[in-house]
Parts: sequence; structure tokens; C-alpha cells
Amino acid sequence: MMELLLPSLGQGVKVGKLLCIGRNYAKHAAEMQSNVPEEPIVFLKPSTSLVGNGGAVLLPERSREVHHEVELVAVIGVGGKRIPEEKALDHVDAYAVGLDMTARDLQAAAKRKGLPWSVAKGFDTFAPLGPLVDARHIHDAQDLEIRLEVNGEVRQHGHTRDMMFSVARLVSYCSEIFTLMPGDLLYTGTPDGVGPVREGDVLEAHITGVPSLRVRVRRE
Ligand code: MG
Repeated sequence: MMELLLPSLGQGVKVGKLLCIGRNYAKHAAEMQSNVPEEPIVFLKPSTSLVGNGGAVLLPERSREVHHEVELVAVIGVGGKRIPEEKALDHVDAYAVGLDMTARDLQAAAKRKGLPWSVAKGFDTFAPLGPLVDARHIHDAQDLEIRLEVNGEVRQHGHTRDMMFSVARLVSYCSEIFTLMPGDLLYTGTPDGVGPVREGDVLEAHITGVPSLRVRVRRE
């Protein structure tokens, strides 16, 4: 799934950067026993970590503990650099629900050693992405319910109003560092309730007004 059909542009573009935000909900920072950040925590995933709706998340052999993190994903349409916050949402072409799958054991080891998270976050299939909805159909990205069910049981249930940094702020912030391009994806952080997945689990992610995402967990 390396091509995205951008709704307002009406054309397919290659998936670009996967920009991800850590600790954007205070309760999730608390459950990770981490401080609330003063500015956004940004990390990247490779485009090869994408998997589409109906696909499978593959548990890598290197990890014993892979967690689900349900997130609102903003899809960049028109690119830009140093985009002011007031203009930032003009650059969001679509939204989707995504999962930031995380090898929590590898991440914890990396944190202890002060090493990057690329391995813990970047395995193939560690960035499931649901179908896109045109951003014009989402009246307020900060007024959406966000939910994850594992085998039909609700595990995460949050609200985008609880983001510490809004989608507009995040787009603006990221664009100060990276030139944003059409097809870039921004995973905006997860609410609390993260936890492990097991082989055979079915993950269903829902956000108000956004098409749902369903993936199955398998061993690599
Ligand atoms: Mg995350």
C-alpha cells in the first residue's frame, strides 16, 4: 500500500514520510511513567511499515511484547515548509485512523540506553492505516472520539480534545523541521489504554466520521 488517493486533489501520490508524535495525551504519558513534553516529540517510521485495512500486523521474532496505539492520522496534501499554525489545516487533505504498533520491550531497552526508537517502531506492518476520509468532511479534528477494540473488547477510548498539541500545531511544528510533501502521514499520538497484542487478535480502530480500520495479528 504505497500509493494514496488524495481526496481533494483527486490523484494518487506515493506515500512519503511517516511522522509520528509521542506522548501527545497526558494520560498516556502518565501510564508510560513519562513526563508531559514541553514541545512535540517527533519520530519517523519507514513507509514499509504501512499496511492497509484488512491486512495483518506481523509480530517480529525480536520482540516479546508488541503494543497497540490507536491514533488519528492526518494526510498531507499540499506540501510546505514553515507553515503557520493558522494555515496548517489547509495542508491536511484527509484523515484516517491508524495504529502505531510498538515493540514495547525494545522501546524500553532503547530508552534505558538513550538509543533511538526506530527499531521498536519501524518493523514491517507496524503502521496500519485505514481508508482516508476527505478532510473537508471533518469539521473539527479536535472533537473526535477515538477507540480501539481488541477481539470486540474496548481497550482504548479517548478524545482528540485531550491532545496536548493540536493537529494544526503538529503540522506547523513538523514543517519547521521537515519540508512536508503530498502523501506524508502524521500519526498524532495515542490516548491511554495501550497494551499487548497476541497472535490471532483482531484489532478494530474507530474515530468519529472516519472509516474504521480492521487488522489481524499474526506471527512473522
Ligand atoms: Mg504512538
